[in-house]
Amino acid sequence: MNSNSDGPDPAKLDRVVADARRAGEQRASGYRERALKIYPWICGRCAREFDRSNVVQLTVHHRDHNHDNNPPDGSNWELLCVYCHDNEHSRQLEAAQGHGASGGATESRATHQPFADLKKLLKGGT
Ligand SMILES: [Zn+2]
Ligand SMILES: [Zn+2]
Repeated sequence: MNSNSDGPDPAKLDRVVADARRAGEQRASGYRERALKIYPWICGRCAREFDRSNVVQLTVHHRDHNHDNNPPDGSNWELLCVYCHDNEHSRQLEAAQGHGASGGATESRATHQPFADLKKLLKGGT
């Protein structure tokens, strides 16, 4: 008989998690496709031009460094070659390191903090 009919269904939960993960991956690759559609395939720093054979070296940079900020008009995107993109981020890192004593990128701290708080809440709840 169906002794397991009530209670959470682990298979269903797995599917929900997998769906969410797939949606996130699709969104991540989606903004690159869209950016390559609206902008000419030229690095915004060194003006190097790209075509189908080497477009893999052209990357999408987020001007505000927030990868979840993807306005449909592309105003937060900038196409940079891998070298200039690297440069852009290491410059940002140097600026952050020289600035404060706490260290670490503000970007990652901002994304991790909510989860830390959530953990604390779950643990300390009465
Ligand atoms: Zn470049
Ligand atoms: Zn970037």
